[in-house]
Amino acid sequence: MGTRNDSRSVLIAGAGIAGLTTASSLARRGWSVEVIDTATEDVAIGWGLSLTGPALRALDDLGLADRCLAAGYGMNVVTNIDIDGTESTFELPRLIGPHRPAMTGIARPELHRILRAEALRLGAQIHLGPGVSRLCLDKGQVRAELTDRSMRTVDLLVGADGIRSTVRDHIGRSTPIRHHGQRVWRALIPRPSWVNGIHTFAGSGRQTGVVPISSGQAYVFLTENDVRQEDEPAPRMQDLMVPFLGRALELRSLVARSASVIRRPVRTALAEALWSSGPGVIIGDAAHAPSPQSASGATLAIEDGVLLAEELDHHADISTAVRAFAERRRDRCATVVETSIAIAALEREQRHNESYSLIEVCHHQMALPA
Ligand SMILES: Cc1cc2nc3c(=O)[nH]c(=O)nc-3n(C[C@H](O)[C@H](O)[C@H](O)COP(=O)(O)OP(=O)(O)OC[C@H]3O[C@@H](n4cnc5c(N)ncnc54)[C@H](O)[C@@H]3O)c2cc1C
Repeated sequence: MGTRNDSRSVLIAGAGIAGLTTASSLARRGWSVEVIDTATEDVAIGWGLSLTGPALRALDDLGLADRCLAAGYGMNVVTNIDIDGTESTFELPRLIGPHRPAMTGIARPELHRILRAEALRLGAQIHLGPGVSRLCLDKGQVRAELTDRSMRTVDLLVGADGIRSTVRDHIGRSTPIRHHGQRVWRALIPRPSWVNGIHTFAGSGRQTGVVPISSGQAYVFLTENDVRQEDEPAPRMQDLMVPFLGRALELRSLVARSASVIRRPVRTALAEALWSSGPGVIIGDAAHAPSPQSASGATLAIEDGVLLAEELDHHADISTAVRAFAERRRDRCATVVETSIAIAALEREQRHNESYSLIEVCHHQMALPA
């Protein structure tokens, strides 16, 4: 870790996974860190997510992997059940040693609580409400006007403001968001005792499955191809699960009683131009948002936070460092986004066996050093 950062300052737009990870990575190196987020309430939406091996590896660098494992549900195996009931499994690579799990399911609010607590403990300031309304990236400094009309002058600006990033536009990297004719659902349920890893069930025109996120909770996911219906979430998700048999029948009855069901369109984005401009840079979903089917967006966001700080250690000049970061991350993140789009297409076409193989390939690609 570098030691020359005592007087350096950063403004991070976005207190999501990428922004909070970056806040901790830089604050522990002595940077003065301010995070702003346009959300007015400090709540992460209540569904869960899978943190794969590379996410745990990056969190381990920050001393946070064990906290996430303790708050989540560690696991090693994915079981896929095809339409005809054929079962196949694959073992996930264990990247933080043979005695710790390969990945963890975790409730989003738990992950945010851990990341936020660590950033605050290390001295970062987090302000909810303001966004960036105007930016000037000039002569190695950032001047930002916030939406509350206050001004900031800092050494580095990080746009970690998600797939609909406005910082991306401010630094001249406007990027289209792609829709893929699918919608994903998530429902929180009590964890059935047989759910001790990820289980997926292929169906006609859709796919469902379950991920444990603590000893007491799991979430059911479902992907549908028809995105026109706008019914109430819980009954609609339950309807969509009608064709699934076997253990998925039990999941369906638990979804019917779930108080927390959400749906999201399947969207992706990949900024084509360089992700940095002078001392400003975009990271996480703002730069590269894969589809949820790859379960890799949060992993890339966490890696970004750790590796951005690493590049800032290696280069005295901030503009050079963020450019090096962007160049270093480009191929890996683009590959994940492209693979995620291919997985979504295979699912849409009901080529489930091929999508299982590609998901496995994606996990192995991601296991390579970042
Ligand atoms: C349904 C679904 C399931 C998923 N499951 C998984 C999974 O299992 N595993 C996985 O690895 N990934 C998963 N992902 C992807 C993952 O959620 C994202 O890749 C990850 O959240 C990206 O983190 P981020 O910090 O870049 O962006 P976000 O998490 O979107 O955070 C952005 C933050 O910026 C704030 N913000 C927005 N605009 C502004 C602004 N103008 N100024 C300041 N702040 C702003 C927002 O309020 C938010 O707090 C899933 C995604 C979806 C939609």
